[in-house]
Amino acid sequence: MSIDPRDPVAVAQALIRCESVTPAEGGAQALLESLLAPLGFEVWRPTFSDEGTPDVANLYARRGEGEAFVLAGHTDVVPTGDEARWTEGPFSGAIAGGELYGRGAVDMKGAIACMVAAVARALDGGGELPGPVAFLITGDEEGPAINGTAKLLEWAHARGERFSGCLLGEPTNPEALGDVAKIGRRGSLSGTVTLPGVQGHVAYPHLARNPVRELAPALTALLGEPLDEGTEHFEPSNLEVVGVRSGTGAFNVIPGEAALQFNVRFNDLHTADSLMALIRDRLDDALGAGAYALAFEPSNADAFLTAPGPLVEAVSAAIEAETGRRPALTTGGGTSDARFIKSYCPVIEFGLVGQTMHQTDERVAVADLETLTRIYGRALANAFG
Ligand SMILES: [Zn+2]
Repeated sequence: MSIDPRDPVAVAQALIRCESVTPAEGGAQALLESLLAPLGFEVWRPTFSDEGTPDVANLYARRGEGEAFVLAGHTDVVPTGDEARWTEGPFSGAIAGGELYGRGAVDMKGAIACMVAAVARALDGGGELPGPVAFLITGDEEGPAINGTAKLLEWAHARGERFSGCLLGEPTNPEALGDVAKIGRRGSLSGTVTLPGVQGHVAYPHLARNPVRELAPALTALLGEPLDEGTEHFEPSNLEVVGVRSGTGAFNVIPGEAALQFNVRFNDLHTADSLMALIRDRLDDALGAGAYALAFEPSNADAFLTAPGPLVEAVSAAIEAETGRRPALTTGGGTSDARFIKSYCPVIEFGLVGQTMHQTDERVAVADLETLTRIYGRALANAFG
């Protein structure tokens, strides 16, 4: 039975039935190709590889010449957990009580289905798209994100593809369609402070040096002063200590080392580099340079902001026209592939209601799929307007 690309519910059901848990393609991108090619899209499906990570299938499709407006998303999904706990099978695409069940229903096969339907409706009966449109679809958003959007963008750019703006369909709404569009994301930086000591007998402390004593000034250095007060579009940056390691397990041994692990979610007042310098300065002041070791995890997540402008207005106006509400423009939550896209064109995120993402019984209101399809259709028209 062939699927009507104008019907977001049918497309979402078919996508959910593809078992595409990261990094498996599961037939989801083949299905998208089979829907987009007859709509006049030229479709490429590059697979990317890197040492130590699984190969990942990706899809790029374009219709029309020149700077394209990009509809972006991922077909991979997180694992289901215990399938027996689901009301409807996680790959069933079953509808019950007006809701479509399945892994990826909101994160984010549902939104991809709405993108396909919006485009198919614009082309229906000999219609035309308001300008060149591209689909940028990865299979590696929920995984290490090495062989996904970052490489797909590089690949497309090297082929001469250029973009005017991007709408990424991650689930952004906390309660109802129209709540929130995301116009940026905080950066993320993780690090470890290691405090050296000299291990010894607890009854002979003069023969040892206890590094646990240095945890107190180290904690004060990391947590004592706020990193900033926030900015117009961002909450204050936040450092959380997520781990404290020391001790041998014995009550009669002074440990030879202590360590603190921390993660910072930071706003646009910082870069990863400036934040590393700031943290080192504070630790130098508290502990003395050379009295500790500081190591940072590799970070590919800087903070970014798409300043309110034509793209943000195009999407906000489309949301308001269909839901009667202007979305709040926020930058909260975790990172997303928008962190890679922002280097190529302005990017905004708007998708379904995220309440059940990654949960057992992930599901979406069938009515929301229709509304989001209309929002995406209007956003496309506005973006070229
Ligand atoms: Zn997602």
